[in-house]
Amino acid sequence: MRWSLLISAMLMLGAGGLRSTDAQSGYELLLKGGHVIDPRNGVDSVMDVAITGGTVARVARDIPAADARQVVDARGLYVTPGALDLHGHVFYGIDPDAYLSDGISSVPPDGFTFRAGVTTVVDAGGAGWRNFHQFKRQVIDRSATRILSFLNIVGHGMKGGAAEQDLRDMDARLTAQRVREFPGVIVGIKTAHYRGPEWTAVGRAVEAGRLASVPVMVDFGTFGPDRPFEELVLERLRPGDIYTHQYRADVPMLDANGKVRAYLFEARKRGVLFDVGHGSGSFSFSQAVPAVAQGFVPDSLGTDLHTSSMTGGMKDMSNVMSKFLNMGMSMQEVVLRSTWKPAGIIDRTDLGHLSPGAVADVAVFRLVEGNFGFLDARLRRMTGSRRLECELTLREGRVVWDLNGLAGRAWDAPAEK
Ligand SMILES: [Zn+2]
Repeated sequence: MRWSLLISAMLMLGAGGLRSTDAQSGYELLLKGGHVIDPRNGVDSVMDVAITGGTVARVARDIPAADARQVVDARGLYVTPGALDLHGHVFYGIDPDAYLSDGISSVPPDGFTFRAGVTTVVDAGGAGWRNFHQFKRQVIDRSATRILSFLNIVGHGMKGGAAEQDLRDMDARLTAQRVREFPGVIVGIKTAHYRGPEWTAVGRAVEAGRLASVPVMVDFGTFGPDRPFEELVLERLRPGDIYTHQYRADVPMLDANGKVRAYLFEARKRGVLFDVGHGSGSFSFSQAVPAVAQGFVPDSLGTDLHTSSMTGGMKDMSNVMSKFLNMGMSMQEVVLRSTWKPAGIIDRTDLGHLSPGAVADVAVFRLVEGNFGFLDARLRRMTGSRRLECELTLREGRVVWDLNGLAGRAWDAPAEK
């Protein structure tokens, strides 16, 4: 059975249970008067969102405040599904030599996700089949953020250096076996940072993806003449596979006249997907600005969150979303590519929308107008007039981030009984 079907069945059961409790006790939380953008359900207008039991109970105009135990005034703000970051690095640990696989370059997710509106992050290959159990115990099971994983084709995961070049540790069969052990949690395969001239790393990752029926995400590593990028996206990847670091300077993007090369649109037509994967070295405005203007937009706005990207030009999900707004993408498109679209890419269609019965992972953003600057990975600057700030984040209906205390009671209000 497909994971998404199982989830849908569970949702329907949950939604049935909700109706009986609403009448007795009212909604637990009501987000009132916000501009709801829910691309999955075609919602793009001022609506109220009622939440009970960790799930969305109802989205409608004018739900009475009296029907809820707590009301948050969301007027003037955007209410969206919680963002799904398709590319993060959260397998944190204290091994100084372990890079993004139990090392100090990864970040503890809860400290960096909720404040940017993110409720789900897909770790992009930190763990491999040998240490996924450790990742699960150490991070996934202890985080309030929902953590999913692309499993590295390298058994030891993203330890950096020579470990990631070891072809003997890229076992498609054992990798696929681990994926099948955690359906819906391990949602794909990752290959990254490979420097060699041959296609073995990509080939083994695709083979594991085929065996486990999941997509592959590719960080192409060293670009060189022996492995043409064009061949990767036109021949080696399958429909549904993802190339991340879309606007990296190495990608052959523009022709001599500044036009986006036709093969990129061909690759997209055959079903290959493109993720931003901003990071600390993989996003150049000189690629992104003309590409977005000519319609070569991302399928997903993955951040490539880790310690050096968050302190450089990337910063966080809301900053990456703001960059695309200022490059001319609409708010609706930005939300789609941060929520529902990435959820579909990893076959987790239970996420990324606000349907009644869905988990109440919600983000509330303020769109601020002013004079702002944005840096790319090479610290080149683009100015802009709009910036998204995350005001409030709910994870399973619980407030996990509240910038201005929208859900808080006044400090001098009478004590609650
Ligand atoms: Zn990465």
